[in-house]
Amino acid sequence: MGRARGPRGLGERRRLGAAARFAALLALALPACGPSGPEAGAGEAAAGEQVVSRLALGTLVSVVVRDPDTARGRAATERAFAEIERLEGLLSEWREQSEISRLNAGAGGPLQPVSADTRDLLVAARRLAEESGGAFDPTTLPLVRLWGFAGGEPRVPSAPEIEAARRLVGWEAIELDASGTKARLAAAGAAIGLGAIGKGFIADRVLAGLRRDGVPAAMVRASGDLAFYGGTADRPWPVGVEDPAHPGEILAELDLLGGGVSTSAPTWRRFEADGRVQHHILDPRTGSPARGARSVTVVAPDATRSDAFSTALFVLGSAAPEFVRAHPGIEAVILLEDGTRWASQGLAVRWREPLP
Ligand code: AMP
Ligand code: MG
Repeated sequence: MGRARGPRGLGERRRLGAAARFAALLALALPACGPSGPEAGAGEAAAGEQVVSRLALGTLVSVVVRDPDTARGRAATERAFAEIERLEGLLSEWREQSEISRLNAGAGGPLQPVSADTRDLLVAARRLAEESGGAFDPTTLPLVRLWGFAGGEPRVPSAPEIEAARRLVGWEAIELDASGTKARLAAAGAAIGLGAIGKGFIADRVLAGLRRDGVPAAMVRASGDLAFYGGTADRPWPVGVEDPAHPGEILAELDLLGGGVSTSAPTWRRFEADGRVQHHILDPRTGSPARGARSVTVVAPDATRSDAFSTALFVLGSAAPEFVRAHPGIEAVILLEDGTRWASQGLAVRWREPLP
């Protein structure tokens, strides 16, 4: 799981001029608050919408519910944040006691028991790593650490250091036993980091809980990852794609009814060295920051998928549009480093003129 990640790929913009349209994203404008109480950071985003925003998953998480039964919506939102905390405790590589940290500590050793939640995420991560041809790889953590993006001072490592860390990367090292109750990392020194998929996965889980609780329409947002359901033609969920050159400004808008939307755009965790921008989305093939894309937003049936693929497509860079065309079920809005803007045909994107 990541720490506060830079970009809000999907942002509130033009100061959300049409306030009602951007109601869902307005949640972001609410003050962040700790787990001190549900009321702080809670509010009405738009008529009939309740929003609660809290710090979780290393970022600001907002839960938006559209529920005429406000008491039910409120109770469901409380359960949603409790579920986020529970899952973070299992899945975060930043928490020493998490199941993922235990798998990392035991890399190269025997199978260890894992919960059904951890298993489900590992199964999804393996599948999406394979589908993306390894562009998304949940075992990229040794490289992320080497570059200093997992804490400490970011730096450009030497070529032999990169090569040594790169050899530790490979999702095939994640092994699950046939019963699905045990897992291990087969390679000593390998490590799982879920920064590119965990927020989407947790958003999906939380959404499933809100549905079970009877909430008719809801959205969960964790930094650049959104999961939502229950939008209608009359009242869709409005989504804005942030301009990576002007954080806070919207470059494209689209209306969606349900699914997952994620943006990968390293506008925050970055530094300049060797005459170029270095950042935290790493290409497992080279061991260095991915080149070619500036921002990738993926729309998919769920946020686990959109999260993993936004990272994968960012890594693929200029080859990303071709990948999207060849993979039904994912749609994307892509901004390349050369200034090209691209959106897949299945999306009704409304572009805005970029600021100078
Ligand atoms: P995202 O913002 O979803 O694109 O995730 C980026 C985060 O995932 C980084 O901060 C790293 O912790 C991790 N990461 C970097 N490169 C990769 C990669 N190629 N595959 C999987 N995770 C990655
Ligand atoms: Mg991602």
